[in-house]
Parts: sequence; structure tokens; C-alpha cells
Amino acid sequence: TQRVFTFGKTKSQGDASMKDLLGGKGANLAEMSRIGLSVPPGLTITTDTCAEFHTSGRQLPPGCWEEILEGLRTVEAEMGLRLGDAAAPLLLSVRSGAAISMPGMMDTVLNLGLNDACAAGLAKRSGDERFAFDAYRRFLDMYGNVVMNIPHHLFEEQLERIKAERKVTEDTALSAADLKLVVAKYKEVYKSRGKVFPEDPYEQMRLAIYAVFDSWQSERANVYRSVNGITGLKGTAVNVQAMAFGNMGLTSGTGVCFTRNPSTGERKLYGEYLINAQGEDVVAGIRTPEPIDTLARTLPGAYQQLVENCNLLEKHYKDMQDIEFTVQEGQLYMLQCRGGKRTGQAAVRIAVELVDEGLVTTDEAVLMVEPTHLDQLLHPQFADEEAYKGSVVGSGLPASPGAAVGQAVFDAEDAEAWKSSGLPVILVRRETSPEDVKGMYTAEGVLCQLGGMTSHAAVVARGWGKPCITGCSDLQVDEHNKVARIGGKEIRQGDFLSLNGSTGEIILGKQPLAPPELAGDLGRFMKWVDDRRVLKVLTNADTPEDAEEARKFGAEGIGLCRTEHMFFASEERIATVRRMIVAQTKEARLKALADLLPFQRTDFEGILKAMDGLPVTIRLLDPPLHEFLPDGEMTEVCEALARDAGVTVDEVYSTIEKLQEVNPMLGFRGCRLGITYPEITEMQVRAMFEAAVRVIKAGGKVQLDVMVPLVGTAAELANQESLVRRVAKQVMAESDTVVSYRVGTMIEVPRAALQAGAIAKTAEFFSFGTNDLTQMTFGYSRDDIGKFLPIYLEKGILVNDPFQVLDQDGVGELIKFAVERGRASRPDLKIGICGEQGGEPQTVAFLHEVGLDYVSCSPFRVPIARLAAGQAAV
Ligand code: PEP
Ligand code: MG
Repeated sequence: TQRVFTFGKTKSQGDASMKDLLGGKGANLAEMSRIGLSVPPGLTITTDTCAEFHTSGRQLPPGCWEEILEGLRTVEAEMGLRLGDAAAPLLLSVRSGAAISMPGMMDTVLNLGLNDACAAGLAKRSGDERFAFDAYRRFLDMYGNVVMNIPHHLFEEQLERIKAERKVTEDTALSAADLKLVVAKYKEVYKSRGKVFPEDPYEQMRLAIYAVFDSWQSERANVYRSVNGITGLKGTAVNVQAMAFGNMGLTSGTGVCFTRNPSTGERKLYGEYLINAQGEDVVAGIRTPEPIDTLARTLPGAYQQLVENCNLLEKHYKDMQDIEFTVQEGQLYMLQCRGGKRTGQAAVRIAVELVDEGLVTTDEAVLMVEPTHLDQLLHPQFADEEAYKGSVVGSGLPASPGAAVGQAVFDAEDAEAWKSSGLPVILVRRETSPEDVKGMYTAEGVLCQLGGMTSHAAVVARGWGKPCITGCSDLQVDEHNKVARIGGKEIRQGDFLSLNGSTGEIILGKQPLAPPELAGDLGRFMKWVDDRRVLKVLTNADTPEDAEEARKFGAEGIGLCRTEHMFFASEERIATVRRMIVAQTKEARLKALADLLPFQRTDFEGILKAMDGLPVTIRLLDPPLHEFLPDGEMTEVCEALARDAGVTVDEVYSTIEKLQEVNPMLGFRGCRLGITYPEITEMQVRAMFEAAVRVIKAGGKVQLDVMVPLVGTAAELANQESLVRRVAKQVMAESDTVVSYRVGTMIEVPRAALQAGAIAKTAEFFSFGTNDLTQMTFGYSRDDIGKFLPIYLEKGILVNDPFQVLDQDGVGELIKFAVERGRASRPDLKIGICGEQGGEPQTVAFLHEVGLDYVSCSPFRVPIARLAAGQAAV
């Protein structure tokens, strides 16, 4: 096996495709040389060698050293210099570089090859003694630090002392004689630490290579990999490369730049440059770099070379690049290039402009924007995410993205009261119940101690595009005393709080926000996405406002309208719902239902109008009834309820008691309600069809899909279906109007998936309710998963939260099975998904493969789902 790959002028043994073996840096150095850019020659030792080095107890595999020396000969030949030759010394850089970039995590040594004799030789040859000893002192410092474990500050102190004696502030103001003194002092630092500086350049090189391999296993590298979920890499490669010198006076320097602006995408070099310096000066922050334009002014020739090189690189890689370079006496050298990280705004603009420039096809452009990029574009952001790091007091699950700033309040009523007096609030709760909905709506953001990614708060917040953090185990919320504790700090009512719903960070104080920027290129880009997409994208929306919002985002219908969310919209509505629940006779219940009907009809009318003929899927009542009953301070509410409903207080209490459930999610809910109380289904269906008739009579179009929840057997669906059809027929006859409608079901109980063939005999459409389907397939309660999910993720027992990213192996198998059986008994069966995973990109790609007709997700995720569906189809 070849362990060393050389690169040099127009001939490289490696190329850009070999990232796994040569690391990102090595592969790109090889590629840049190959296409004729000016890259100092060098060699790359493979990542496999790193793995062998560690398994064999810190030893190079047999023959490897000889290979390195052979590679070194080619570098020496191209440079006309030799390692350790005092007359013509070759200097080297030794750098790490894994297949995935780990910025700043591993080690680098520059100017390797110097000793007293070679430093003198370098001075003579370059005619610049100052430069030679500057390189020498830099080498002693870096080598001491990286290879010999001598703390950098010990060198720094010596340098500072001499600068103080000479009364200068800049390193560059030291003379050659001063730097010789620095070198002497640095050697004393080695001695004072009991270390011997290896004078032999070959020994220097060997130990530097070892140090880079060692840095792969360093604490910080291990932590970085685990934090960023980087697994499966073999090790780091080592790049040994001829030095280009940025510290040879005013015609030299070093810089980093992006070929386009990584924040805005503008096509203009963006970066920083330091005159008369080497790379580590930028990183160490000793001197403040100047904008890249400085180079254009001071060294126009080198700048021109840089521009040409950047153009060449973009043409070659067909993407924006992030590069490092050095200018040595006016000559440009490229030291690194890689695809540049960018914001959402930049990603869209760059993709669109690369198409216009003829560099990429629209297919390629569609793949260049990541779903998280779009997500960023659609939510307000913090103006500067670095600026607040010192004020982060804890974190929870990033349940709904975006940035929110407001004053802490601890219940929904306070939220509404504060908001109505013009104060922005953050609602802080132990958990939220449907009763908090209005408070949540008025809040800028929501913070919950409990709950997972699909807890009530999370689902609702995402639906509104409102930032939300849930499952924050470090947080202790005392709602009663209106105080919360986290990270040793107290949050009291009225304290300013900032939430980053994209990262889960909780930040004290008021952090500045920036509005979402919808660049004009986004429209064009999304058109390309939609042209490719096979899956339709619908939305989950409960109100006419949500429905309109979602249409703006490109929703092609409503895949789930949870009618009950509107029950809390006003005091009057919830009071009516409660009267219906505590009714002791059928007459009383029918009376309450009749009062509820106009509310529902108005909502449905608004939604159907907003969707104007696009399919609108309305689900029959689903949640267990106790969710609508008051909790907390009961006495007063129950007395009022008794008065209002014309029943006794005892009857109210006994009803509440009867409705208490041990496992509410597996309890008296879904179609079980409509089968037990057919009058509820009848009222809802009548409201739907009366609304449809009104819209049609006003000249609108309607496609109504009535959906039955929580079906497990074909008989359950058949029961509700005949009810729906009977009422539909009645309303259509009464109004002499034909409404185009279908009756279908959710597939969210595992048995329904297994019985899909039988169920599809009745159902005209399926919609996978993957929240419940996941809950019942795993047996994990959706509201309580926050208690153990972090541990499962940490131990690798789960790779993702299955309520967020569909579990393809388990739940996905049930879906595939149900699709196959369902279509076998009804070939034109319409199939979609309306669980939370329906807007998640990996899930969308999977469902595209499985052959669903549509996905349905919250309005803010519609563009993301469109992108994922478009990408899946490329
Ligand atoms: C589901 O279970 O996936 C679903 C969409 O319904 P809900 O979340 O309302 O139970
Ligand atoms: Mg459900």
C-alpha cells in the first residue's frame, strides 16, 4: 500500500476525490497542483497511516519512513533546496488534515528544518538576516509548543520582554540582532523545561509528524468530534510541504479569503490579509489583519494573481471556495482551498448566480442549498451569535427554530396581559397544555422545562414559526412563585431572556435581532426546486390565517386541520365545548353541539376559501376530552361550569373524574369518541359541508377531505364513513349543491398499517400520523420522551429523535407495508403523511422513495419540504 502521495508543479499522485485517504487539505492541495495553480510542492501521509500509528503503539508502519524520504527528494528537487543543507536549506510546514475539517483542533508546525547552521545559511542565501531569524524564532516557539509540550506563553513572555526593552509594540519592528537575542532566549526556555531541541532537521520532521498523529487523539479533538457527531474517520493525514514565506518584508504576507461573500453571497473576494507575516499571526490575533482590498492597493500584481486563481478554482470546483494563501516577495502561493461555509442567504444567491454564470446546471444548483439554509432564511435571527456566548445559561431541545427576545412570564394570562400593554414576552412553563395556546401565541418565544420535539408546545410553536425550547432538564420552573432557576441563576418575572430556538440556547438579557431576509433570488431558486419535485407539499393548518400563511410559502393544500385547536380561541368557545362534555343527557349535548356548530362552520369556511379548490383535509375530533376541562384552581371554574351547563357541581366533578385517564394517549380519543358519541361527528361533518356549500355558492371551489383519526380496524372506519356520507348527502340535498369530497383515514395505529388492505376498501386516502405511529411502534410516550432521549442519543442507542426524524427501519417498514397493501386494494389511493416528520428533509427523501403522493407539515417548513422533495427527485 502507498502511504505517501506527493504533489508538485502540475503533477500530483492524489486528487480531490481522495479525501478519505488524504484528508480534505491533502486532497485539495493535490488537486490545485494538478490543475496548474502555484502550490509549494509537498507530500501527504495517509489517514490509514495515522490509524496504524495508533494501533501499533505510536510507531510508523514498516517502510513508511523510507517512503517519506523518497517523497521529500521530489520536493527538494523541485525547490532546488535540501533539508538540513546549510548552503541551501529547505524549510517545511507540517500540518494535519482529516477528511472532515476540524478547524483549529489539530496541530501545525511551520519553518521546520532550521537550526543554527541553517538559519545562518538562510540569512546568507536570502540576503535578509532579519527574515531568517524571524523564521527561526517562530519555529522554536511552535515546535516547542506543539511537539515538546512547552507552554506557548513562556516564549511569548520572552518576546514581550525584549519588545518592551526596545520600546516597540509590533513584532515587525524588531531588528535582526533583536531576533537573534529572541532565539537565544527561546533556547533557554527549552533548557529550563528540561527539553532538548533537536538540531537534526530529519529528527525534527519525524517528531513533528508524530505530534500531528498524536493530536488526532487529543482531548480537544475527541471532544470536537463527539460534539459535532463526527464518526467513522480513520485519522488525520499529515501534509509536509515546502514553506512559502509571508514574512520576507513588505512585498510578502499571508491571508485567508472566500471567493464570494459568505454572508451575502456577493461575487467579490472577501477576506483578510496581513503584511509581512506568517499564518499563525492571524490566528493568534497578535496583529489585526486588514481587508483583502489592502492587497489590491499594495501589491496589485499579487492581487491579480489571487483573483485569477480564485476564478480558476471556482470554475474547477463549481462552488464558492475558502482559501489560504501566502505572498512571498510578490509571488502568490496557494496553501489550501475547500468549499466555503455560508449563510442561507449566501447559499441561495451563490447557487442562482453560478447558474447564470454557466458554471452549474439548475439540477446542481438545487443540490447546493441545504434545508437548514432555507430554515435560516425564514426565521428572525440573532444579529451576532458569537456576541452572546458569555450569557448562555443553559440549553434544551431546539424545538422550533429562530430567535426570540422578551421578558419572562410564567403563565398564559400574564403573557396576554403584558403583551396587550405592548411588552414582548417569553412564556416560561414547566410544560404547556392546550389552554396555554393563546399565551403562547402572544409570546415571542416559549421555554419549557419538560417535553420533547413533538410535545404540544413544540408542535404548536413550529406551526407558527415561533421559537421554542423544550426538554430543558437544567431548568427548574416554579410557576406558582413566578420564578425559574437555571445554571445557578434566577429568572424572575419581567427579566429579559433571549432564546435561540435553532440551537436550544437560553441566554440572559436582551440580545439584538436581525429580521429574516428573503433575497429576490429565492423565488427563482424555488421554481427550479418545484420543477423537479414529484411529491406534493401540503400543510398542517388550523386557522384561516395559518392557511393563508402556508399558501404564501407554497403549500398545495391542507393535509391536516386539527379542528380542536380552535376550541380554545375564545372564552365562549371553550365554555361551549365544556358544556358539551359535562352534558348529562343527549338533549343537553345536542344543544351544546348546536351552539358549537357555527363556530366550526366559520373556521372551515375561512380555511376552504383560503385554499380555493386545493384539497383541505379536516380531521374529526381527536384528543381525549379531559384536555378541554379546567385544571388547577377548580372550585370556581366548576361552579361556573355547573351554572352555565345547568348541571350540579357534583355532576361536573364526577364527569371530570370519569374522564381522567391513566394513559390518555391510548385512551378515549380519536374515532373512539365519534363512535361513542355519533352526534359529535354529525355536528362536525355538518359544519364542514355547510361551510363548503357557502364557499361554493359564493363562487369558490372546494375539495373537502374528511379524515377519521386513530383508526385501528376496518370496522371503525366503516362506522364513521357511513355517518359522514349520510350527513354529507343531507346537507347537499338541503342546499341543492354538490360538494366534491373524499373520506379517508389516518394510519397512526400499528394495526391500521397491518390492516391497510382491508381499510383501503373504505378509505379513499391514507395519511400517516407518524407522531402516534411512532409513539405506538416504539412504545415511547410522545410527551415524556424528553426524560430519556438525551441519554439514548448520548449512548448511541438512538441516532435521532424518532419523533423528529422518521425511524425508517421500524416505522418506515410499517409505512412501506401499508402503502403496498393499500394500493393493492385501491390503486388510486391517495397517500400522504401529516406527522411532524413530514417536514424533515431525510424523512421527505425516504417518503419520495416509498412513493407517497404528498407530505404535509407546518407552514414554516413548507419551503424546506419543497426543497427536500426537489432534491430527492434530482
Ligand atoms: C399524528 O399522530 O402524527 C398526528 C398528525 O396527529 P396528532 O399529532 O394530532 O396526534
Ligand atoms: Mg395522531
